[in-house]
Amino acid sequence: MTTDPLPILELTYPELATELGRRYGRGAYHAAAIMAAVYRQGLDPLQAPEVQSSRRLAAALARDMAVDPGTVVDARSSDGVVKFLTRLWDGETIESVVLPMATHLTVCVSTQVGCRMGCRFCETARMGWRRNLRVAEIVGQVVTARRHFGDGVRNVVFMGMGEPLDNFDNVVQAVRVITDQRGLDVAMRRVTISTCGLDEGIRRLAGLRWPHLRLAVSLNAPNDRLRDILMPINRRVPLKRLMAALDAFPLAKDSALMMAYVLVPGVNDGPEHARQIAALLAPLKARINLIGFNPLSGENGYRAPDEAEIDAFGRHLADAGVFVCRRRTKGQDLAAACGQLRSQRPSAAAR
Ligand code: SF4
Repeated sequence: MTTDPLPILELTYPELATELGRRYGRGAYHAAAIMAAVYRQGLDPLQAPEVQSSRRLAAALARDMAVDPGTVVDARSSDGVVKFLTRLWDGETIESVVLPMATHLTVCVSTQVGCRMGCRFCETARMGWRRNLRVAEIVGQVVTARRHFGDGVRNVVFMGMGEPLDNFDNVVQAVRVITDQRGLDVAMRRVTISTCGLDEGIRRLAGLRWPHLRLAVSLNAPNDRLRDILMPINRRVPLKRLMAALDAFPLAKDSALMMAYVLVPGVNDGPEHARQIAALLAPLKARINLIGFNPLSGENGYRAPDEAEIDAFGRHLADAGVFVCRRRTKGQDLAAACGQLRSQRPSAAAR
């Protein structure tokens, strides 16, 4: 009998059933009971009656099970937005955010500790990259949100700390687990993965053939010259390459690519920029999420636009034929583009 850790939060129902069979000669019945305990009843799986009725299985699970997604060490609420700070097994901390939307709650999850993409307007970028999150650490953020807010948490957006496609395998497995009907049962059309523009990751994602998965791209600049400055990834993956990858991305009939555009006054908000965006997006089924820059530490010299500046740029875009979605609340802006979520660097106090 193996004693490898059994990472419950990293497995889908069929995978868990297979593992229980391989390890302990059990299967679907106990897998379903464990999934229900963890994801629906907020229980330690050892407390599931189906597990308790088998002393040998309970003992083996007590020895092997690994369900450590980290510990919530702080939860703060403002403007209806709740931020969770989670300390991980190695002392690193990550932030997740629960946001009220019109009819439901959205949880915005982190995928890495830090980020190596270096976007100019982003607080997480200042940390540099520290490590990828494990599948359980990603899924655990959704579990935490559900435990606090219940089934109203229906949308999951991968827009917290980190570049999701830079942690591709773990993010994809986390999506499989989160959407498993025996577990959290989040509909695939309610899952959004955001990227700063890693074309290879976008193509790999397309290869999964998940047409209901939503893809968001942090565009933020209408041309290579400006995007090279704001988003260094553009020097490696210029707009032409990015657009080609997006063009090949499968979309459901009622879906569109979401292009986040963080408006920075005097930098990317001219009428000519709106015209360039229209030309860029013309071949795609895409819409722009227009978001006011959220000055976090204020160290990069950019300022927040006022409402009139955002409205004016929105009109330029609409006049150029671009479908624009303007989010009105600070909280919802946070779930519209990565880099708009204030990350908290691990500190001695936090550890
Ligand atoms: S904006 Fe997103 S991709 Fe860019 S550095 Fe920040 S977390 Fe990374």
